[in-house]
Amino acid sequence: MDKIHHLVGGEVVEGASGRTAAVYNPATGQQSAELSLASVAEVDSAVAVAAAAFEEWRHSSLAQRTKLMFAYRALVERNADEIARRLTAEHGKVKSDALGEVARGLENIEFACGIAELLKGGYNEQASSGVDVYTVRQPLGVVAGITPFNFPAMVPLWMIPNALATGNTFVLKPSERDPSAPMFIAELAHEAGFPPGVLNVVNGDKEAVDRLLDHPDIAAVSFVGSTPIARYVFNTANENAKRVQALAGAKNHMIVLPDADLDLAADAAVSAAYGSAGERCMAISVAVAVGDIADDLVAAVQQRIDKLVIGPGDQPSSEMGPLITSDARERVAGYIQQGADAGATVVVDGRDKNFDGGGYFLGASLIDRVTTDMSVYRDEIFGPVLSVVRVDTYQEAVDLIKTNPWGNGAAIFTRDGGAARRFQDDADAGMIGINVPIPVPVAYHSFGGWKDSLFGDTTMYGPEGVRFYTKAKVITERWPDPSTSAVNLGFPTNQ
Ligand code: NAD
Repeated sequence: MDKIHHLVGGEVVEGASGRTAAVYNPATGQQSAELSLASVAEVDSAVAVAAAAFEEWRHSSLAQRTKLMFAYRALVERNADEIARRLTAEHGKVKSDALGEVARGLENIEFACGIAELLKGGYNEQASSGVDVYTVRQPLGVVAGITPFNFPAMVPLWMIPNALATGNTFVLKPSERDPSAPMFIAELAHEAGFPPGVLNVVNGDKEAVDRLLDHPDIAAVSFVGSTPIARYVFNTANENAKRVQALAGAKNHMIVLPDADLDLAADAAVSAAYGSAGERCMAISVAVAVGDIADDLVAAVQQRIDKLVIGPGDQPSSEMGPLITSDARERVAGYIQQGADAGATVVVDGRDKNFDGGGYFLGASLIDRVTTDMSVYRDEIFGPVLSVVRVDTYQEAVDLIKTNPWGNGAAIFTRDGGAARRFQDDADAGMIGINVPIPVPVAYHSFGGWKDSLFGDTTMYGPEGVRFYTKAKVITERWPDPSTSAVNLGFPTNQ
């Protein structure tokens, strides 16, 4: 049985707490590894190592940090297949999704390669007579990242490149469900040449998270995960006077107007609802059919589900893999029943599909005539279930997004540019797609939702990431004019 420990000061450090968690292959249901869960003392020693490394790292030159970031980028790219293999083995996602995750992570390293440009600050000459004022941005110290199971490589890479490039040192606490890929990307950072202690990984559960949240030497916390834990992390870190950003759950709507390109919309709905088994915070979970397109849309999605190949992620033919745990599968299956009991029409019931072996597979489900009082509409299901809500008007569709407590992403499908333009203004969400179902911003913009999808006021990666991981310092300076010096060096009097 593989054992997965911690990575502190550039070395693998064996877990000493005596507490462990099992890591499973969701495609087989077999345990694949045993993961050490850090104690408070183990978190403390990782933070101490990161704090010691900070003093030197923060004074490293921008040239050095940039060089290391380029080396890191090359190594992650070279090892993309191995990272993807680990993602599939522990998360279950199919290879193309796993490689896509690595590619989206890489973008963030590429962005951080431009750190010299990003950290330029601002300068005002002659703010007052003989006085110049300028702003620099300096690192915070040791920062922590706490990440979810659904993007075990990409979400850490939302944080690590900007945090390190701005001169911080980092302690990552990955999800305990799929820790191999984040461990590997941290090892690659050391191979690239980042000094020991600059990037550390402590594996663990609530005990480790709680210690990070109250450790006096943790300056900031970046969290991504479910809404209840995000709220808890945000409040606790805030109480402890830490800078915190906590990205949370979602319920993303895709509005389909009657003039939409039906094939484009149906393809998009299927890939965005069932890709990665619906375990994406930007997954589409509600299709809002406006006017008379509903019947055609439901039929087009149903046809596509029939062709969807569900199977182990390491099989080339698979388009959708298993859910993360058997509990997750049971929970998601429960929602299909709740939808049926509440009076919705279960057009495709994922429970009807049979799978061999002990994997956590569930078929894709399509539930029509869902109303806003139903649990399938109200809750974040986080599985391969697409609900269809039928409305008569654009305004009703937009109001659904407005009254929903979450506001991560929202999409519209239409051929009408004017309608799309109205929607981008009206939609109450942080990331908007126009004929794009999963509008995850590129790395040079920033990622984050509104309402219960984000606690804190700074979104993640891109320019906002650089701002989050730095604090501004404003310098006001005055130098006596050299023409007034006691030693006459021939400076003319300044007018
Ligand atoms: P989760 O909240 O269960 O876990 C996230 C992290 O918090 C993990 O590292 C976990 O160990 C830790 N954690 C769990 N319970 C804790 C507790 N009681 N106290 C302290 N720490 C705890 O989330 P998950 O199931 O791993 O991930 C799925 C969720 O993440 C979904 O809700 C999804 O929408 C959300 N998510 C959001 C975004 C976003 O950008 N908004 C991105 C990815 C995932």
